[in-house]
Amino acid sequence: MTFRPDEYRAPLEQAVRSAQEWLGSLPTRPVKPALPVEKLAAAFDRPLPDGPADPAAVVTELATLAEPGLMAIGSGRFFGWVMGGTLPAALSADWLVSAWDQNGGLRYATPATAAIEERAGRWILDLLHLPPSSAVGFATGGTMANFVGLAAGRGAVLRAAGWDVNSDGLTGAPRVTVLAGAEVHISVLLALRYLGLGEPTLVAADAQGRIRPDALAEALAAVTGPCLVVLQAGNLHSGAFDPMRQCIRLAHDAGAWVHVDGAFGLWAAASPRWTAALEGLETADSWATDAHKTLNVPYDCGIAVVADPAALRSAFGAQTSYFVQDDAGAADPMELVPELSRRARGVPVWAALRSLGRSGTVALVEGLADNARALADALAALPGVEVLNDVVFTQVSVAFGSDDRTRRVTQALIQDGTVWMSGSAWSGRAVLRISVSNWTTDAADVAVSVDAVARALAQVTAAERE
Ligand SMILES: *Cc1c(COP(=O)(O)O)cnc(C)c1O
Repeated sequence: MTFRPDEYRAPLEQAVRSAQEWLGSLPTRPVKPALPVEKLAAAFDRPLPDGPADPAAVVTELATLAEPGLMAIGSGRFFGWVMGGTLPAALSADWLVSAWDQNGGLRYATPATAAIEERAGRWILDLLHLPPSSAVGFATGGTMANFVGLAAGRGAVLRAAGWDVNSDGLTGAPRVTVLAGAEVHISVLLALRYLGLGEPTLVAADAQGRIRPDALAEALAAVTGPCLVVLQAGNLHSGAFDPMRQCIRLAHDAGAWVHVDGAFGLWAAASPRWTAALEGLETADSWATDAHKTLNVPYDCGIAVVADPAALRSAFGAQTSYFVQDDAGAADPMELVPELSRRARGVPVWAALRSLGRSGTVALVEGLADNARALADALAALPGVEVLNDVVFTQVSVAFGSDDRTRRVTQALIQDGTVWMSGSAWSGRAVLRISVSNWTTDAADVAVSVDAVARALAQVTAAERE
């Protein structure tokens, strides 16, 4: 087939139009999808077409059919799970990444994206005050960033015990003990499963979900062989940060590798507001975070940081004749994450940071926390509402009396559609969990969202009287 650059024009222009329509609808549209998945499946339920279609028409059809099934995650009134929206520069850079179509694995083959990602990695280390000589890998998300850090740690602690996991595997290896706080994120459990390390030993946490140093010390005292300790910067329900300095020192004294899951919370390290809360963070061995959460770049973008570049390269480095690599020089991007072929997902990170600058990034993170505080204060003022956590970052967990009542308010709120907040369970209670992760959330969104919760609460109260 003959290549005609012109063929890209109409579908790309249609994509821009459809994207602008979608983005333009975010400030006013309901957050929840208009239709459930069965209706969407029905809309897409047609046999594979026999022949080709016009690309621009394909884009139009796609956007039209998908629209009623899209969740407005980019809305300033979306507070579900921990997600985040998309900054304009990051979204646009992401489109360029697709247009460039670079397979970002090798420095010599795709030098531009390698250089951009390396610069983005340096900026992240600078911004988050992590050791400047660390290696940075761009993975698909927080789960895989945790996997990357823990894989480097697994190799290192086994090597220290005289075992080469790369050549000899895990069968017959010294047992690796993994210690994690009682409120460890499920993605860490998945990463440990992928690594053949099984379930961690859970260490008691305090009322905010922070690992207790006294309990960690006790658990470490019982460990004899290789050990990984997983700490958390940013608890899903409270936003709390584990006591870094103390826990890392205890773990290092016991010869353990310390990995920090900071999927959304690691970004707090960018602001002086959390310097005390994160004191000692930089002494860990590896860190995982998501750019698609707090930094507001498009999916998928997790970031793994490993203080010892050799430990990371040992876990993922692959040498083979047809890659043509520079052994002595910098690691290739594919030596830092599990994927060989991949999109240059670090490029939108560069664009996000380039557009925000240091002050803009700090303002972004602080703004999310300010809005969480404002939501918590306004909700706490409503009758019968309890804010269960100390609001130290972007997360707020709320109860409305009994578990049953909390669930009914959550249901009514999601049904209303003005906002999206997730139902969850924490500290033995049903909660409505609010995560402020979107850069566009403003005071008006906060006010409208508080009104929506008040409405849902009034509806449940009225039904109780009937
Ligand atoms: C979201 C999250 C993860 C997992 O990240 P993904 O990008 O969804 O894979 C891990 N840990 C914490 C604390 C999270 O909030």
